[in-house]
Amino acid sequence: MLNLVLFGPPGAGKGTQSERLIDRYNLVHLSTGDIFRFNMKNDTDLGQLAKQYIEKGQLVPDEVTINMLAAEVEKHPEAKGFIFDGFPRTKPQAGALDELLHSMNTSISAMVALEVPEDELKARLKERALSSGRADDADPAIIQNRIDVYNAETAPVKDFYIAQNKFHGIDGVGSIDDITSRLTSVIDTL
Ligand code: ADP
Repeated sequence: MLNLVLFGPPGAGKGTQSERLIDRYNLVHLSTGDIFRFNMKNDTDLGQLAKQYIEKGQLVPDEVTINMLAAEVEKHPEAKGFIFDGFPRTKPQAGALDELLHSMNTSISAMVALEVPEDELKARLKERALSSGRADDADPAIIQNRIDVYNAETAPVKDFYIAQNKFHGIDGVGSIDDITSRLTSVIDTL
């Protein structure tokens, strides 16, 4: 299996690049942000719980997120591999993902991290707010909170994969095509 963690701060382009990678490598795309938004839209119990955190730019608690992700993985027993987008976002999530994949006799192939400077991220999120309808994109204070949470809790997840020799940093500034090429040139060597 090819199992990728697509990593990067809010607005780095994970969703856009995931779309391209799933076609090329025939992978199942699991975006925790998309799954939470789907549940919020349908007003499920999970959606109501997640909403309280997402609206403030905070992380949904690990236990809730890990259980949800495990259930999504189990829905795809025939998958040739997965792209994890927006997960893991904390070290406990990274540990749980390793255990889950181990129980399936597989593992993470690589973390590919889109690297984008903070000013550029803010500009992109402001632009995205015009069309996304996402309340968490519309308010600069919430955007700042998401970036702060990323720096404090999510950025350290990189060390988890560096320790396993699985980390690949990729310049996330440039055209969408250029960034896809940078990603595929790393993934093709795995
Ligand atoms: P972005 O990366 O653009 O901020 P996402 O769509 O990946 O947005 O996530 C939106 C929100 O959903 C996050 O700000 C967070 O509140 C919640 N979320 C997504 N993934 C996770 C996760 N793995 N753990 C905890 N919360 C999460």
